[in-house]
Amino acid sequence: MFEKSTWIKLPRNVVVGHGVVDELGEAVADLHLSGEPLIVTSPTPDELAGDRVRTQVPEAETVVVEEASFESIERVTQAAKSHNADYLIGLGGGKPIDIAKMAADEINCGLVSVPTVASHDGIVSGRGSVPEGDTRHSVAADPPLAVLADTEIMAQAPWELTTAGCADIISNYTAVQDWRLANRLKNVEYSEYAGALSEMTAEMLVDNASSIRPNLEESAWIVVKALVSSGVAMSIAGSSRPASGAEHLISHQLDRIAPNQALHGHQVGVASIMTEYLHSGNSGRWRAIRDALDQLGAPTTAAELGLSADDLLEAMTSAHEIRDRYTILGSGVSLDAAYQTAAVTGVIESDRPESEDR
Ligand SMILES: [Zn+2]
Repeated sequence: MFEKSTWIKLPRNVVVGHGVVDELGEAVADLHLSGEPLIVTSPTPDELAGDRVRTQVPEAETVVVEEASFESIERVTQAAKSHNADYLIGLGGGKPIDIAKMAADEINCGLVSVPTVASHDGIVSGRGSVPEGDTRHSVAADPPLAVLADTEIMAQAPWELTTAGCADIISNYTAVQDWRLANRLKNVEYSEYAGALSEMTAEMLVDNASSIRPNLEESAWIVVKALVSSGVAMSIAGSSRPASGAEHLISHQLDRIAPNQALHGHQVGVASIMTEYLHSGNSGRWRAIRDALDQLGAPTTAAELGLSADDLLEAMTSAHEIRDRYTILGSGVSLDAAYQTAAVTGVIESDRPESEDR
């Protein structure tokens, strides 16, 4: 008997392009959302686009948050309750959007995402996290009801935020390989459709890496569309598997070992060079990943991330312990193997003489 069933939750209105922040009112009306929104933003995006958003939803109240923390979520939750907000609008980068996402999940209301930077794929997915002591607290909530990604605004964002978004997408390559491996070895459910979409998205960025340049709205367009399809792949899979494998585990460890050293996307990009090597050795595509990151101007070494070799090796050898997610790291990579991988791929400088047999 056929007993399978699945839910695929997607954003309903995804509006991407020049000046689309001015279409927020229309996008919200189209969702038949009634009642008052609460805008959740941080100082810079508020200055950049806050007034344009408020013109569209004049009845909205605004909460400005400074950092990703539980206090911020609590403040937003309280404000939403006291204003009887019916839905939240997250305006800004990863921080305010993640906070809005978690608050919306907490009070069980809808979210409209208005990203001002293309720094990671969380702008479209329901997944978010904030630091909690030594670890991170994550939610897997519903994706936003609508996403308005204004390429004019995003093209003006600091370039390193865009390269971080690109690197986050390029890391889908290794995430999908980890997912397939987990399917073969641990019978983790795999979706061909989500896997193919996610891989194709990474491919698109690697192929276009040389044409993605600062201050070009066309570049913001390519990156946003890739972030959207990456988010859709996660929605189809019903998990973050299509976009998060061993490279993300290593990055989470780095967040713990060397907090706030580098951007999330940059960390997963560098980690992805190494996990690609772990998957396929020298015949793999680790050079293609590294070269694409290099062309974009994203870091390709521990030093460029501001990390010592020891920090990187510690993250690599302990990343498998973080969560119950089977990847190429298996039950752990030995220090020697981690060193080899990092040295061969040029992520750290080799301090050992070249051996004859390699
Ligand atoms: Zn990521």
